[in-house]
Amino acid sequence: MSHVFSRHTQNQPPLVSHGDGPYLFDKQGKAYLDGSGGAAVSCLGHSDPHVTAAIRAQLDKVAFAHTGFFTSDPAEALAEKLIRHAPSGLDRVYFVSGGSEAVEAALKLARQYFLEIGQPERSRIIARRQSYHGNTLGALATGGNAWRREPFSPLLMDVSHVSACYAYRGQHDGESEGDYCDRLIAELEAEIAKHGADTIMAFVAEPVVGATLGGVPPVRNYYKRIRDICDREGILLILDEVMCGMGRTGTLFASEQDGISPDICTVAKGLGAGYQPIGAMLCSGKIYDAIAQGSGFFQHGHTYIGHPTACAAAGAVLERLIDQDVLSQVAPLGAALMERLKDRFGQHPHIGDIRGRGLFLGLELVQDRSTKATFDPSLKVNAQLKKAAFANGLICYPMGGTVDGRTGDHVLLAPPFILTDGQLDELVDKLDLALKATNLS
Ligand code: PLP
Repeated sequence: MSHVFSRHTQNQPPLVSHGDGPYLFDKQGKAYLDGSGGAAVSCLGHSDPHVTAAIRAQLDKVAFAHTGFFTSDPAEALAEKLIRHAPSGLDRVYFVSGGSEAVEAALKLARQYFLEIGQPERSRIIARRQSYHGNTLGALATGGNAWRREPFSPLLMDVSHVSACYAYRGQHDGESEGDYCDRLIAELEAEIAKHGADTIMAFVAEPVVGATLGGVPPVRNYYKRIRDICDREGILLILDEVMCGMGRTGTLFASEQDGISPDICTVAKGLGAGYQPIGAMLCSGKIYDAIAQGSGFFQHGHTYIGHPTACAAAGAVLERLIDQDVLSQVAPLGAALMERLKDRFGQHPHIGDIRGRGLFLGLELVQDRSTKATFDPSLKVNAQLKKAAFANGLICYPMGGTVDGRTGDHVLLAPPFILTDGQLDELVDKLDLALKATNLS
């Protein structure tokens, strides 16, 4: 009997044995193609020798040294490299151990920044519905997914949520993309006006929405308009790139493709690529200077921030992505996967939309393509699909509640950046089999 407190008490997952490239193997020897990198984590697959060697080498020097006493070569080198490749203006990196911690650090830094510059009335966060920013209480309050928030709502701080930029369902028939964007911007401006701009601390969003919407990129100019509003109103723009960052969409930072720089950016998942737990919060020089010239320290911290072994792993991941140019494979591989998905499922009666950027792609499942009617949530179509795919040896990331946190289903694909053509075919074939095994009536 297991004493592990597993995710689902009724469902004991198989024991993992080892990884090989994009495959994981269970103890029975069954192979699983990792079509979602777990949850958009394993961008280099499961056996990258460059990364594992870097971890071993670091362990032979020193595994851990508390940041209350030391900095380390791997942390210094990683911060330098991240900033060298980050959107302009970002200048400092605060290392944490995962995505939720990165978001908590971002929120607390935003608050402390306004205290340091003498604007203590700024504390309100505006985020978006159907977003996910993590499961710790601040991150959960910031996220807009109704189902995830609901049981904990008495514990959550008051956050404003405006509409997501989700053209498939949000853009009206006959409405141009530009008009849709105008409408979203007007909604945000109204929310700011309702509370008073000088009470708003930050706008928080995922550039390409992952877990809760399934690979949804913004419409053109959306983030440029958001950036302009934030600049005009003195609001910090926090972009959560925990899932879509670190090359997943074809550029190291997803927001590069939107032509803007955030004030604060969070990354995790692909940063350590699963080889070590690590996340990071990057902030502008302006924010850092306000702390440096004010109280002199960020009133935050965890035991494992700046963990040398985790930083060594992430440094090796960036070497693979940037110096060894794995990153340049993402856009062409993503285009090849998108083409295959459109060929295979473009006319599928129950796939309403295929979208995404780079190797961060989503398929939305609908009961009826013409009306976009969703499946009855009690059918748990997404859970059926996950189970059928896993039985066929495919790991993918289906989720429900796409439309409003309760109805709607999608499946997110976020495979490793090292897939061969044959493995792209295998992914699509196995997804097809899983859809056939799912009751979609
Ligand atoms: N932010 C985003 C956009 C995410 O997708 C996630 C996780 O899926 C998180 C934050 C939380 O990250 P973690 O699960 O590492 O705490």
